[in-house]
Amino acid sequence: MGPYDEWGIECGDGWFALIDRLCQACEREIEGLIALGISNERWPRVAQIKEKMGSLRFRITGPVSDSLQEQKTRAELESLSVCEQCAAPGMLRDGRWRHTYCDRCHAEEEARRRH
Ligand SMILES: [Zn+2]
Repeated sequence: MGPYDEWGIECGDGWFALIDRLCQACEREIEGLIALGISNERWPRVAQIKEKMGSLRFRITGPVSDSLQEQKTRAELESLSVCEQCAAPGMLRDGRWRHTYCDRCHAEEEARRRH
């Protein structure tokens, strides 16, 4: 059991497409390993999906191919320009807490925090 099994996805819905893409990349990787007759203890496994310091963190345990690693790095970088709440173009905001939001979600969050 890892954090993912216990808590699922620990970030906003705006990153769903990025996460979905990575899950599909993991599935393709596993399908390739199955085709090679590799047993499941040697498959990559999603350990944790969360937001940290304004960026998506997608942690995979087990063997990770260069191609999967590259897709993971690319999606994590991409999350820094996608609003975590609504998937609109966003940017990293520095404040008391770092997060990647679009202008609208950022303004709403600021207003909410003032009350
Ligand atoms: Zn937004």
